[in-house]
Amino acid sequence: MTPSSYQQPMRGDKSHDRTVSQSVDSNLSSEAATVGQILAKKGGALVSVKPGDTVATAVQVLKEKGIGALLVLDDAGTMQGILSERDIVRKLAETPGQTLPQLVEGLMTRKVVTCTPADPLDTVLKMMNDGRFRHLPVLDGGKLCGMISIGDVVNHRLVQLEWEALQMKQMIVG
Ligand code: AMP
Repeated sequence: MTPSSYQQPMRGDKSHDRTVSQSVDSNLSSEAATVGQILAKKGGALVSVKPGDTVATAVQVLKEKGIGALLVLDDAGTMQGILSERDIVRKLAETPGQTLPQLVEGLMTRKVVTCTPADPLDTVLKMMNDGRFRHLPVLDGGKLCGMISIGDVVNHRLVQLEWEALQMKQMIVG
């Protein structure tokens, strides 16, 4: 299947008409793949809860947004932790029937590992694998600018592979 982001080149296309920063080549070549490229596509929306919110609230937000983790920000917007569905499942097993009224600050992970837009995707995959987590908040100059998940990284890599296969076909067909 052709990736939706990929437009097959046509005979007569002028490669010099493409800008370097936005060309398919620069967006999909393996060596150029960074966190910033994923954020450029998905945007920097931050979905968060507050430390004093209940787990019931967090569960509702996770469901509505269809995501697996939430940033925990205080009133000043400072990151206090991260809460993932794993934390909630763990607490559900520990305190059956009593989890939803508990506060997010009692379940969240406080020591959060982060990345930057310049980080290569290989590096962030290793960070996720080593740390056994699937989410990484992104800091640009110390300021929160987005969140990426392992799904975002794998998806980007799949599109890259499809594009590379198409390029090889193109070379063979001419
Ligand atoms: P996840 O695999 O992302 O659902 O999270 C698994 C566990 O790691 C949970 O306890 C999360 O709170 C924690 N966690 C998730 N992301 C991070 C992160 N970037 N830094 C530190 N801990 C995290």
